Amino acid sequence: MNLTERFFSVQHTIPEGVELVVVSKMHPVEEIKTIYDTGHRIFGENKVMELMDKKDLLPSDIQWYLIGHLQTNKVKYVAPFVHLIQSVDSPRLAAEIDKQAKKCNRVIDCLLEVYIASEETKFGFSMDEAEDFLNNQLPGLPNIRITGLMGMATNTGNKEQVKREFKSLAEFYKKHEKTFDFKYLSMGMTSDYQQAIEEGSNMVRIGSAIFNE
Ligand SMILES: *Cc1c(COP(=O)(O)O)cnc(C)c1O
Repeated sequence: MNLTERFFSVQHTIPEGVELVVVSKMHPVEEIKTIYDTGHRIFGENKVMELMDKKDLLPSDIQWYLIGHLQTNKVKYVAPFVHLIQSVDSPRLAAEIDKQAKKCNRVIDCLLEVYIASEETKFGFSMDEAEDFLNNQLPGLPNIRITGLMGMATNTGNKEQVKREFKSLAEFYKKHEKTFDFKYLSMGMTSDYQQAIEEGSNMVRIGSAIFNE
């Protein structure tokens, strides 16, 4: 299969109502353009400088999502154009996004990254911290809009564990969906997106299944 065929075969497995973010990190602009030419517009990158280099070489109607850990000193570069920051993992980062968004006269859509994995390397709020942030700090940040939650399961072959982690975030999401007007629950990548969708994800971030032969 070529790239376009692989994209369509993945897209085919995504049910209606679930948004597909094509994760194009480490892949060249020519390949992104190939997928763009099918009509797809939503792409995710995890490094700010890589995103900045690519964005200027690609059509301006691409909706760029930032999916990886974002350093506060890099927020200023993406604030003018980023469509959704999926990885707000601390109150400090949220405050910086709010500040930079204000300078651009924007309200930037963001997801709170919630820590569900049993790995030390993953970033994010605990559920208690997320609740505290949403109730007590978010009201003071008028230039960010939290439109939902993002989570990553442990990188393990243990399907029961992955299911348990996705389920815990889905329950937390449902509990707060109405109060905070959430729209997106972003869970699932190449190895686990089918499971994530079963547990209630409505946004999946897929790279390797599309780009790797
Ligand atoms: C790289 C990445 C993905 C995509 O992973 P694949 O396994 O290539 O589908 C999804 N989410 C985040 C946060 C990533 O960094």
